[in-house]
Amino acid sequence: MLRSVILAASRSSQVERLVATAPYTRDVVRRFVAGAATDDALRATRKLVDDGLAVTLDHLGEDTVRPEQATATRDEYLKLLKMLAAAGLTPAAEVSVKLSALGQMFDEQLAYDNARAICAAADAAGTTVTLDMEDHTTMDSTLEVLSRLRKDFPSTGAVLQAYLRRTESDCRELSSAGSRVRLCKGAYKEPESVAYQSAREVDKSYVRCMNILMSGDGYPMLATHDPRMIAIGEDRARWFDRGPERFEFQMLYGIRPEEQARLAGEGYTVRTYVPYGDEWYGYLMRRLAERPANMVFFGRALISKK
Ligand SMILES: Cc1cc2nc3c(=O)[nH]c(=O)nc-3n(C[C@H](O)[C@H](O)[C@H](O)COP(=O)(O)OP(=O)(O)OC[C@H]3O[C@@H](n4cnc5c(N)ncnc54)[C@H](O)[C@@H]3O)c2cc1C
Repeated sequence: MLRSVILAASRSSQVERLVATAPYTRDVVRRFVAGAATDDALRATRKLVDDGLAVTLDHLGEDTVRPEQATATRDEYLKLLKMLAAAGLTPAAEVSVKLSALGQMFDEQLAYDNARAICAAADAAGTTVTLDMEDHTTMDSTLEVLSRLRKDFPSTGAVLQAYLRRTESDCRELSSAGSRVRLCKGAYKEPESVAYQSAREVDKSYVRCMNILMSGDGYPMLATHDPRMIAIGEDRARWFDRGPERFEFQMLYGIRPEEQARLAGEGYTVRTYVPYGDEWYGYLMRRLAERPANMVFFGRALISKK
């Protein structure tokens, strides 16, 4: 119930104004977002890489409605990739891209062209791109763009969401050699017709999907903070004899950092997803929806007069 309300608020510009102007919002945002500028992203990446973690960087922004906004997002990624390479942070750092930020909502070809330019820049920088997955109405379009991109840039990563009923079948499709697939539970509000609604059903689906990916020929990226899913991931890695070069764990910046360090310390590849930029609202609301405890922390910051 609370999750639905927060996810609905994530699409409301009125709530966005209220949240953005509250006095202590910045403190909450800082916990989950590296900063507004490219330099902030680089600084956070350097620290994580020095701590033995890999990184994927997300320039925040989604649901772009104007071509010039989409072009600006593309250009930011091109700049970021050059800076990462110059700083010697590739291939440890790659980038995550939302097609909706590149124009997908009004022109799929434009989104493809922009994504292609980012893949070419990543290739030149010696690293890779992963296409984030958004709500289910964009999925076919995103998978279509992915398959076009993979013709020239085969290491382009996909994201599959275990809460969708179709995902087991997508895992089978995408578990071929060289295919990088991030498996997450899914962060959007989806109808029952397409998505499992209970946490238990989503968890069971996550495990089924993980089994397909870990027993397949591709490169699974297990994106979860859930202790049970992580323990099962460790078990499957042993069972299918997957060393640190054949799969990875992924977690979000600011969430369970001690667990990220523990797994890296045990020799696993762990990649932290680092968002940066000033369009943090939708991202932050999805993080709050995932965990009521974060909502309490956030509510305090909103009403605080300190
Ligand atoms: C690297 C990465 C990339 C992602 N990319 C996408 C994407 O492209 N598309 C998409 O739809 N979703 C994406 N997600 C989000 C994902 O779908 C889930 O919404 C999110 O990861 C929460 O699910 P969970 O597996 O961590 O388990 P949950 O069942 O939500 O949580 C399990 C436990 O993890 C901890 N935890 C989880 N979330 C938080 C939090 N916000 N704050 C503090 N502790 C927390 C708590 O201990 C909680 O009990 C991504 C997640 C990660 C880690």
